[in-house]
Amino acid sequence: PMSLSDPVKPHRICVCVRKRPLNKKELAKKEIDVVTIPGNGALLLHEPKQKVDLTKYLENQTFHFDYSFDEDATNDLVYRFTAKPLVKTIFEGGMATCFAYGQTGSGKTHTMGGDFSGKSQNSSKGIYALAAQDVFTLLRQKRYADMDLCPYVTFFEIYNGKVFDLLNKKAKLRVLEDEKQQVNVVGLQEVPVSSVDDVIKMIERGSACRTSGQTFANASSSRSHAVLQVILRRRNFLHGKFSLVDLAGNERGTDISNNDRHTIVETAEINRSLLALKECIRSLGQNSEHIPFRMSKLTQVLRDSFIGENSRTCMIAMISPGMSSCEYTLNTLRYSVLPA
Ligand code: ADP
Ligand code: MG
Repeated sequence: PMSLSDPVKPHRICVCVRKRPLNKKELAKKEIDVVTIPGNGALLLHEPKQKVDLTKYLENQTFHFDYSFDEDATNDLVYRFTAKPLVKTIFEGGMATCFAYGQTGSGKTHTMGGDFSGKSQNSSKGIYALAAQDVFTLLRQKRYADMDLCPYVTFFEIYNGKVFDLLNKKAKLRVLEDEKQQVNVVGLQEVPVSSVDDVIKMIERGSACRTSGQTFANASSSRSHAVLQVILRRRNFLHGKFSLVDLAGNERGTDISNNDRHTIVETAEINRSLLALKECIRSLGQNSEHIPFRMSKLTQVLRDSFIGENSRTCMIAMISPGMSSCEYTLNTLRYSVLPA
């Protein structure tokens, strides 16, 4: 079957899955693990091995990805197979994008490295920091050192179809599209960086901004998309751009207890943007003429990252392995890939 990872042009789009371990709370509640990673990019969603009283019958289903990571995989390992191969792209004048997709609590922010709450042990060593490290390593390499490339960072959030600058006190920004369909986020802070530490400082500043403050955009960081971009400029002209996207939680508004108007609008917008993203990636994979960027703010803002001969995309689907998450897990798996 056709999947997101079946592009006409090979290797342009890579789709992976990462299972997190059951956490202490889940273990205490005797949560049952229904996800097995047999290797070779496969993921098995299986019936509970123990006998449980189930209202929903879960059938064994296998899904196939380019790579699948089990609960023992480190951020470093995940990085090596997902974002790392894309770093070179931006040095070669291309665009790269890496998405973390999945329900709230499945490990998106942990994987990206945007968790500075102190709860996560290796927050500075997520994909953000590892990619920054490689960018600076390549900048020093002889073949790139003479190219006069200057690195910058932007960090923003898209909430309810609006863009907020995480490096500038969550200033609300306008998005303009010119007649050449070039998209411009007006006033977005592009901070020059000269070391990995500089980048980590910006990640820290932006992540703190994302989760603090009294504004409505703080309702919950899980309801917004966070985009960190590492930009290379050559004599002020854009040379390459790496967008690392911590997507909003993909859980649908099935929880009726929390269906106030605000939540419904918020959820509809998230669903719309995630659907738009899927449509865009699919159209790209099929080399379609028409790519529906305008379907959402997320895809509109990332437009220039998708187009071009030399653009590459990686999607990491995050999975919470518990039985009680299995409906969301199925949604995540179906979004990313179809059963074999
Ligand atoms: P999300 O951003 O998808 O809502 P988080 O990244 O915040 O989820 O993860 C939820 C919790 O689970 C955090 O406390 C995080 O540290 C932990 N966690 C997530 N993935 C892993 C993992 N692979 N290994 C260990 N802990 C993890
Ligand atoms: Mg998160």
